[in-house]
Amino acid sequence: MNILPSATVHHANHWTGSKTPLLRFLERCYQDFVTENAGNVADYIPELGKADPARFGISLATIDGHVYEVGDSRIPFTIQSMSKPFVFALALDTLGAERVERAIGVEPSGDPFNSIRLNAENHPFNPMVNAGAIACSGLIHESKGAGAFDYIRQALGRFAGRELSMDEAVYASESATGDRNRAIGYLLRNSGVVTDDVNAVLDVYFRQCSVLVTARDIAVMAATLANRGINPVTGEQVMTPYAISRTLSVMTSSGMYDYAGEWIYRVGIPAKSGVGGGILASLPARLGLGSYSPKLDKHGNSVRGIKVCEALSSHYDLHMMNRNDNARNSIIADYDLGQSPSRRSRRPHEQRLLAAHHHDVRIIELMGTLTFANIDYVSRQIAAKPRPSFIIFDLRRVAVITRPAGRLLAEGFRELAAFNVTAILSGIERSSPTWQAIAEWTEGISNLRNFRLLDDCIEWAEDQIVYRYSGAIDSHAMTELSEQPLLAGLSAQELTDLASLGTIRNYEAGTTIIAASEPPLSLFFLKSGIVHVRLPNGVRIATLTAGMAFGEMALLEAHRSADVLADKSVTALEVPLADFQRFREQRPRVGERIMHNLAQLLADRLIVANTKVSVLTAS
Ligand code: GLN
Repeated sequence: MNILPSATVHHANHWTGSKTPLLRFLERCYQDFVTENAGNVADYIPELGKADPARFGISLATIDGHVYEVGDSRIPFTIQSMSKPFVFALALDTLGAERVERAIGVEPSGDPFNSIRLNAENHPFNPMVNAGAIACSGLIHESKGAGAFDYIRQALGRFAGRELSMDEAVYASESATGDRNRAIGYLLRNSGVVTDDVNAVLDVYFRQCSVLVTARDIAVMAATLANRGINPVTGEQVMTPYAISRTLSVMTSSGMYDYAGEWIYRVGIPAKSGVGGGILASLPARLGLGSYSPKLDKHGNSVRGIKVCEALSSHYDLHMMNRNDNARNSIIADYDLGQSPSRRSRRPHEQRLLAAHHHDVRIIELMGTLTFANIDYVSRQIAAKPRPSFIIFDLRRVAVITRPAGRLLAEGFRELAAFNVTAILSGIERSSPTWQAIAEWTEGISNLRNFRLLDDCIEWAEDQIVYRYSGAIDSHAMTELSEQPLLAGLSAQELTDLASLGTIRNYEAGTTIIAASEPPLSLFFLKSGIVHVRLPNGVRIATLTAGMAFGEMALLEAHRSADVLADKSVTALEVPLADFQRFREQRPRVGERIMHNLAQLLADRLIVANTKVSVLTAS
């Protein structure tokens, strides 16, 4: 076998500098098990008998594509039976599940890998034993003919993330001695599972078993299985999620042959071994492990490789059946309009309407990964209270929506729509993966909206409530100065005097009316239209409608702290600050009244801000 001497334990010599705990753990496995000398190198394929029994390499690939390596992780060896899961996945995707599942079973045989026994239908028990694997190679041969091996080699390379070659000597050695596998091939042809020339099919099988890999390659291949078929290093979707999940299923029940039950009971990580000394272990959504050590136990599984898998599983408690999830941890806040209205200042009659109907808009802020369990919990929280007209789901802190959760969430939206409840989503873009997770299921749901900002969602829902109960949103209505809360308590004469100091101004939508960078020179009373107040960092802190004042903070501060922009075409009375100050000074009672009103407005804002903070920090 050709060995790359330069790669030998070069990682072991660089065990300096800062290391992650997982790398230290793998190093400890190497130290602990390198002294393990039980087992024998396979020699029924004569060329395999030449392997150096001292070799020991471990590699672990994470699903974010980081690859840890210890010891002989770059020494090539033949993949042997570890090719079986990948060729099974390839057959599923190439010929379709129906064709493959008709030829090959998925029951564990409880037999050794080279068993000649077939199931009751004279088909292979499963694709992890030789009979099933030869049948898979036969299916690929049926479809690709003379190109079958190269087709397989390239697919294996996509799993590994690099082009793989073949060990000619091992291939020749197995081809010369592989009569037992030929016998299986003839048996399969006899029962119609193999339809092509047996020797041609066996040639594909022997070649695929002789493909050269390293522990590192195996780790990446295993991580690709763990990652629903996306190679975490190259990012390529190598096979369909269907093929991958079915492949992991048969690895779980049959990957370790007549040790499979014991293995999944004790270690709990789907795995596959090869007589070349490799073990591949793939823990879905977590990691892929590859190990290389040529001495095998009586089942044909690498002795040290098994020890590494056992240690990994027990040390980190990674048994796949040993998992839980907290269904309740995704709701960070659940409140209604009463506790957190939008930043839009409403006129008194609108405020009264919204206060009376605050239960009608419910806001649920979610975070983290949304799973099936989380979304079911959310559904029950919704069902537990009287149905509002609007439910806002704030998803800005949601990192991932799993597929099952996406479906359940969409079913929830459909349920709400049937009762005329509008679901409003905030914090996700239509192009985001989070949206994609639900988009597939939400088609045709009429009562579903989305806005980027939570405040926009709340404001929109408030408008709907106002419209529903008052029949109109009067954003174009002209208001009088007497409606200004800042001027409450002034006499008609005082208001007329004040109006005479100012000038009526009109602004187009989008105009900057006040710039934070400019000195404060005037005060504005909004007569019609909508403006918003925006901090220099772009955050919108308030939306104001007819009847409100802006620029009024200049009565307290010598600097502007925010911009004010017109949202819709705006009419406002602009009063120069100097004139306003003089007006106040000439009428001390009025001046005191206005400052009292200002204090009241600021106190109201503070109360709203405090409620919002407490909604988010309570629980
Ligand atoms: N090529 C080997 C054989 O068919 C593969 C067996 C194995 O790795 N378990 O005998």
